[in-house]
Amino acid sequence: MDLGIKGRTALVCAASKGLGRGCATALAREGVNLVIVARTREPLEATAANIRKATGASVTTVAADVTKPEGRAAALQACPDPDILINNAGGPPPGDFREWARDDWIAALDANMLAPIELIKATVDGMIARRFGRIVNITSGSVKAPIQNLGLSNGARSGLHGFIAGLARQTVKHNVTINNLLPGPFDTDRLRQTLDHMAHTSGKPIDDVVAARKGAIPAGRFGTSEEFGHACAFLCSAHTGFITGQNLLMDGGLYPGTY
Ligand code: NAD
Repeated sequence: MDLGIKGRTALVCAASKGLGRGCATALAREGVNLVIVARTREPLEATAANIRKATGASVTTVAADVTKPEGRAAALQACPDPDILINNAGGPPPGDFREWARDDWIAALDANMLAPIELIKATVDGMIARRFGRIVNITSGSVKAPIQNLGLSNGARSGLHGFIAGLARQTVKHNVTINNLLPGPFDTDRLRQTLDHMAHTSGKPIDDVVAARKGAIPAGRFGTSEEFGHACAFLCSAHTGFITGQNLLMDGGLYPGTY
């Protein structure tokens, strides 16, 4: 299937590793020109080189923190008029809400709610004027089924979802769609760190922790960044102008509900 986005430009945040990298790679395979952002220069350049070699796509890098105003300004200077915006950043730390102070909440809101909203604010009117835009926010399955020790994530990301639900219905008549991709357990550095932490705190061997986690997923495995990227590229395609304000859960069947 030709996704019909060859020659478009995408700004992909937090794209040197994991899910962001999967999205960037899948878009590059469709002939999309990329501007990819991550905080640390070296892995970012390595990823850019890898994507260029694998796909022949044009890849520009910006070493910046998208949760900071100056980081977003640098990203937007390199890519002021993206056709496609993929919002992503690291998730907040786990913990007990009794230990979180106001600053912890503000940091989570900045990273996982306000940063994507600011990037949308800076780019959506250009998309509307050009009558094409695809915005995908990488959030978490925790929005649908809260994860007990990730209250900062459950809360901050739910705020983003509430805002997007309203805005997505205002932009769609201009062929600008906004959707959320909700990852369940994907085999990335982030998941491996979480599993290592679980093994450490429980005293169980890491292999047992991994086996138990996989065993709880109906698919019997973790997701891959590649398949996450393909779903993202589909949501960014020319054929999805009638899909907006949706929350696509990718979790191998883990969420047990009918709706
Ligand atoms: P990852 O650690 O594998 O990769 C994160 C990427 O984001 C890296 O390239 C890192 O450099 C970049 N990054 C992090 N913070 C950034 C910032 N402030 N500015 C710019 N770049 C930044 O993580 P991942 O598994 O790909 O997770 C991506 C998002 O999805 C996170 O918010 C995570 O909480 C969420 N998520 C992941 C899973 C999973 O199973 N992997 C599940 C649910 C939610």
